[in-house]
Amino acid sequence: MKQRKKFFGANWKMYKNMKDAEIFFQSALSLKWEKETVFFPPTHLLASLQEKFSKDFKIGAQNCYFEKEGAFTGEISYQMLLDEKINYALIGHSERRLIFKESDELLCKKASVCLSNGLKVIFCVGETLEEREKGKEFEIVENQIKNGLKGIKVDNSSDLIIAYEPVWAIGTGKTATPEDAEKMHAFIRKILQENGFESEFIRIIYGGSVKPENIKELMKQPNIDGGLVGGASLKPESFIQIVNY
Ligand code: PEP
Repeated sequence: MKQRKKFFGANWKMYKNMKDAEIFFQSALSLKWEKETVFFPPTHLLASLQEKFSKDFKIGAQNCYFEKEGAFTGEISYQMLLDEKINYALIGHSERRLIFKESDELLCKKASVCLSNGLKVIFCVGETLEEREKGKEFEIVENQIKNGLKGIKVDNSSDLIIAYEPVWAIGTGKTATPEDAEKMHAFIRKILQENGFESEFIRIIYGGSVKPENIKELMKQPNIDGGLVGGASLKPESFIQIVNY
């Protein structure tokens, strides 16, 4: 029976220069990372971190455009990532959706092109505080999944990971309770099933103010398969406590 291997992602957002990142990995090298862990540094560091540290660490991109090359100023293409042997991409982070106005339709093209070209995708979904207060969180997440993954088929269920990140919990210090997170994760698994995915094998990870203090309780929930971590992933000492919870 195939199992869902635990997965942790470190979303470094727009933090760290090359020197900071090297210091991080040099000290991370002396630690034993017990789970599948991928680091998502800012784009300008991808190629050199991959070259220097890929023997010990997996590196992924925070974003990926669906065209191979062309006049798309500021973007990085799936082919450019593949050329540097980067095999993971975050798609649909709420900061991309809300600040950069990325639509479900655009995100679907990105996810689809990544998956069909051999990149593994961490597809992020989650409701805003306003949407939750109106009781719309399930509807919002269902639509993000249905529209963002429309027409997508995955040959290997481990290539697609869903990150449930309620926007109100990102960078705010507020975490969803383990029970609320579990309710949404179970719901996401059901929606994936209804949309033709082998949902029992797709990992659904939680993100939103994950810290060493709250990871254990979150990971006790049957449908939480890991975490996507922002702030607490910037230092190896805190991130390892989450990964090795
Ligand atoms: C994130 O950016 O994906 C995230 C979950 O951030 P934080 O852990 O800082 O809330």
